[in-house]
Amino acid sequence: MENQLLNFVEKFFKNLGAKTNYEGNILTITNVPASFQKFYGKNEPYLFSTKIKHNPEVEFLEKGGYALKAISTFLENSGQTTLLKINFEIDPEEEIKKNINLKNSRLMKLVSKKKFDIFFRFTFHTSFQYLNEREKIINEIYVHDNKVINGDLKGYPVIEGSKSEIKIPDMKEAYFLSKEELKKLLENKTNEITIFLNKSLEKDTKRIENHFLSEEKELTDNLGKLKEKLKELELEGDVEKIKKQKKAIETIKEKLNPVEREKDKARSIMIERVKHGLNVNNKLFNTTLIYHPIFSYDTTIKNEDTKKIIELNFNPLTSTLEKLKCDVCSSETNEIYLCKNGHVSCKNCFVVCENCGKEYCKKCVITKCQKCSSHICNECKTKCFKCGRILCNSHTRVDKLTARVYCNDCLIRCERCGNMKIGEEFKMSKRTGAKICGECFRQEMQKKVLEGVFD
Ligand SMILES: [Zn+2]
Ligand SMILES: [Zn+2]
Ligand SMILES: [Zn+2]
Ligand SMILES: [Zn+2]
Ligand SMILES: [Zn+2]
Ligand SMILES: [Zn+2]
Repeated sequence: MENQLLNFVEKFFKNLGAKTNYEGNILTITNVPASFQKFYGKNEPYLFSTKIKHNPEVEFLEKGGYALKAISTFLENSGQTTLLKINFEIDPEEEIKKNINLKNSRLMKLVSKKKFDIFFRFTFHTSFQYLNEREKIINEIYVHDNKVINGDLKGYPVIEGSKSEIKIPDMKEAYFLSKEELKKLLENKTNEITIFLNKSLEKDTKRIENHFLSEEKELTDNLGKLKEKLKELELEGDVEKIKKQKKAIETIKEKLNPVEREKDKARSIMIERVKHGLNVNNKLFNTTLIYHPIFSYDTTIKNEDTKKIIELNFNPLTSTLEKLKCDVCSSETNEIYLCKNGHVSCKNCFVVCENCGKEYCKKCVITKCQKCSSHICNECKTKCFKCGRILCNSHTRVDKLTARVYCNDCLIRCERCGNMKIGEEFKMSKRTGAKICGECFRQEMQKKVLEGVFD
């Protein structure tokens, strides 16, 4: 009993997020939320004992005593929401540096942004009442992101939270989920008790039936005996005695009335059935809103070509760095490639221009040279003025005369002067039959005319 009281008090304070500790048979409570201290009218620490009386330092625990009354009143004030904060003692910047893998850039600057992750803990008190039993159980259900999760605050550095730090979210959906979960958790226990009660009821029903049967037999036997006796009395002729005997017979006959007997039996069975009912009572004991920082940083990464700010989030609860999304394919990664145009990409979406060697993502480099199939960036790609194909630098030439760009197929080397010229202007040499450029052809013709003059 004494231990039960201490256990109850301990659980109560744990639920509030306080620290509890036993020293001998004294339960010491520290880290009590201010709201309770105010309500209780006394500042922490609290020392509870079921043994030590008349000590102003120690709260004596007894049924109906001040401490227990205060606790139950505090609990009755339902809708109580306790705010707890997990206060992680880590160096988030170190963790981020450890967990991010920058492939072609350096981390320059981390600017902290305050962000919190929130989950709920619903504590339910359930009592099962049946026959002479009364069982109480406490269930804690954690909900995060509208999903029931396995939670346990054990081992986390928990302190009282502050309303000014976070915005309290709507908890209707989470509460609904926790109630559904509670139903599931109680199902086994309820079934177990129901089976037990059904068996017990069956036994008691049988007992009642047997009782009525044996009673009926007894009454019938008695009736027989009384009837025999009546015969004897009638022979003796004592009117008074006969009258008495007849009355006794009538009384037993009444008791044997089958309709009444069935009614009585049914009533007895009904009473048993009521006694075997199961009464389950659920009460929301406490709602705890637990929050913890997510270490969120605007992070500047940089290389020779570009600079970019990305958001990095480190979740201390899971000890993980939230993965970044590739700007190209949206897959998640911690291996970051920085594109010259400021995109962040995964390994698969990273491209190097094979012409200038600069680093891009697949969003920025979509062109391949139509001659050699190498990836070329927008700065390097060129279009042949004649055939319109897109090509890399090494497969194009500039026509000196017009300054236009042509592909190597559209500009032909003149066999006579060695210059690159557009194919259409070529003519066949009258003298050697070679394909020569228009200029060389004109010169050949002039020469011919001059030779003719001196002939
Ligand atoms: Zn990608
Ligand atoms: Zn390029
Ligand atoms: Zn890009
Ligand atoms: Zn090429
Ligand atoms: Zn061309
Ligand atoms: Zn030429």
